[in-house]
Amino acid sequence: MTGTDDFAGLRALVTGGGSGIGRATAELLARRGAAVAVLDVDISTVGEPFLAHRADVTDDASVRAAVTAAAGALGGLDVLVNNAGIGAQGTVEDNDDAEWHHVLDVNVVGMVRVARAALPHLRRSAHAAIVNTSSIAATAGLPQRVLYSATKGAVQSLTLAMAADHVREGIRVNCVNPGTADTPWIGRLLERAPDPAAERAALEARQPTGRLVGADEVAGAIAYLASPLSGATTGTALAVDGGMQGLRLRPAGA
Ligand code: NAD
Repeated sequence: MTGTDDFAGLRALVTGGGSGIGRATAELLARRGAAVAVLDVDISTVGEPFLAHRADVTDDASVRAAVTAAAGALGGLDVLVNNAGIGAQGTVEDNDDAEWHHVLDVNVVGMVRVARAALPHLRRSAHAAIVNTSSIAATAGLPQRVLYSATKGAVQSLTLAMAADHVREGIRVNCVNPGTADTPWIGRLLERAPDPAAERAALEARQPTGRLVGADEVAGAIAYLASPLSGATTGTALAVDGGMQGLRLRPAGA
């Protein structure tokens, strides 16, 4: 549908590319001409045309090995999509220290590890871009999401600081802030709810558009930020949330 090949000749690495938003992004970048490698802790679902590299973003050695292998196989790296992440539920009273450290380790330090390993390769690119996946949880106070929100706020701040550090090297850094997106992640969340249909309806009702965000719609925003066509865009957070952050609607019919 895009009809563009703006990624022709470019090499991309997508973390968390085995599922959901990462998978949709890998597929879209490939359709637009990129050679794509996926880094994921679970590569069982990753098939042609993607190169699959198994790594856990909490393990620096496995991240370095996977990024080196991906850049070697692709002949370099132009685009890093830092997307792997996990959720957490509860108030500030509900998550113990170990869970805080683990979710911060995956969602924040994980992105740092992958970026650190990728930067030497990105510096050799004429069209270098990093896109981090943050969340509406970074900018809106959502109930029962204190730990997850803290990690995604950190991702948005990390994005701005990285954009400043690397702009003069020609490396752009941006993030996307998806609203509730229809991915296997949300499927798992709904399965655990006492009444999955009611929970889904509540999540949909929270969206001004009245529906969840599509993984392909988040992928479209990531591709926009990563594209060489967006060479003047760095240090931005692009909401892909069906209007949830910015709009204040009156009740339907009022
Ligand atoms: P998903 O669970 O469908 O996919 C996440 C992928 O990350 C999986 O393939 C998983 O194996 C991988 N992963 C998890 N931990 C990893 C680790 N330690 N090392 C390497 N890979 C790991 O989830 P999704 O909904 O596609 O979420 C992708 C990103 O989007 C996450 O960062 C999430 O926080 C963010 N996000 C999701 C939503 C949503 O509603 N789905 C909304 C806003 C932001």
